[in-house]
Amino acid sequence: FLTIDDGADKDPRLLDMLRELEVPVSGFLADQVARENYDYFRQAQREGYGMHNHSINHREMNRLTPAEQRAEICGQQTILERELGHRPVLFRPPYGAYDENTLRAAAECGIEVVPLWAAEAFPDRIEFGRPDQRFHPGDIVLTHFRGKREWGADMTDMVRRLLDTATEQGFAVARLEDYL
Ligand SMILES: [Zn+2]
Repeated sequence: FLTIDDGADKDPRLLDMLRELEVPVSGFLADQVARENYDYFRQAQREGYGMHNHSINHREMNRLTPAEQRAEICGQQTILERELGHRPVLFRPPYGAYDENTLRAAAECGIEVVPLWAAEAFPDRIEFGRPDQRFHPGDIVLTHFRGKREWGADMTDMVRRLLDTATEQGFAVARLEDYL
């Protein structure tokens, strides 16, 4: 499952490529960087990709008070409902950092699943979380809406790397929301 976080880079060629290759993705949006152009994510949603909650300000949840965590998660639920027309049921904590209060706050904000990840995809490599350096069935792969500025390469290069590696290892990319 390919999941894309934050929302800083909004590359139209990514959506073209995903459509052409029929590769499903799920987005986790932090308002801080997504807000300058929610049109892009509305378009992604129209293409059939789930768009979910990644908090407002991308803070480390376990460093915040319970009330601050609730404000970050519930606040982004309200923003996404306004911008995308629905309240997500998936929340991914920034940096994968969370505590019991995060899970409680997320549940209070209507979140049902808090998916983390098993590997991270970059344009030039896959960073596997396991020592065998392979994908396993059901693995969630993290990547980011990034581009030349941070990677020196494009999101399309990242997708190509991910697909080549997954195919080589005998895997296909599926839609996360269909398996929860
Ligand atoms: Zn993030």
